[in-house]
Amino acid sequence: MARRKKVYEGKAKILYEGPEPGTLVQYFKDDATAFNAEKKDIIDGKGVLNNRLSEYFMTGLNNIGVPTHFIRRINMREQLIRSVEIIPLEVVVRNTAAGSMSKRLGIAEGTQLPRPIIEFYYKDDKLGDPLVTEEHIIAFGWATQQDLDDMVALALRVNDFMSGVMMAVGIKLVDFKIEIGRIWDNDYQRLVVADEISPDSCRLWDMETGQKLDKDVFRRDLGNLVDAYTEVARRLGVLPSNVTHHTKPTLIN
Ligand code: UDP
Repeated sequence: MARRKKVYEGKAKILYEGPEPGTLVQYFKDDATAFNAEKKDIIDGKGVLNNRLSEYFMTGLNNIGVPTHFIRRINMREQLIRSVEIIPLEVVVRNTAAGSMSKRLGIAEGTQLPRPIIEFYYKDDKLGDPLVTEEHIIAFGWATQQDLDDMVALALRVNDFMSGVMMAVGIKLVDFKIEIGRIWDNDYQRLVVADEISPDSCRLWDMETGQKLDKDVFRRDLGNLVDAYTEVARRLGVLPSNVTHHTKPTLIN
């Protein structure tokens, strides 16, 4: 059997050519990195959880009419996605101050923000993904004003959906990052949520205890990362043990 062609390998995922034109297979690795890959580890089972959790969030978004690249999960570690042209920006939405914003602006972690704040970071590992303004984005041609308006609207819809889903299971959505891609239909483009939505790219705090249930557990050495992600999956009813029972292995050529 011919091996699949690898299209791209990132820190936490690999993209392979998909079975049909316009599709890709997204494989979730167990690798964890932080601080621009200065801290690295392999965390058994993380990829399986993120595959399942990202499927859960992306399916929910598709169901309420927020377009995403997600088509379907193939197996424990892989999902079929639409191939998109990734806009080179990380779109961060914050509801509560934490992480780099707390550090940069001296606002105590946990301070509730008066409204969701959206930030854009230019995706460039060599530069450490710097924070950029809309002026930079338009001047350097990374996105147009129309794209930016659409990206803000998408990001806020994702925020409302994710905040609600999390609140229902006693978790506060502090902040998250999404990536957005373009899909071309002849001359028309559509923007869709791409990449992944998982505890790797969100800050999730237990509403009662404040316990961190996201990648900060790894970044800040707060305990077992898989336990934290499993807790999120368990509360949402998306346990990997269910997955094993319901998933038939699929052969991919
Ligand atoms: N984030 C991410 N990838 C990045 C940078 C940030 O997924 O390369 C997420 C991070 O998990 C958090 C949010 O974006 O949920 C805001 O991160 P922040 O800017 O506070 O940076 P950090 O403290 O992670 O360096």
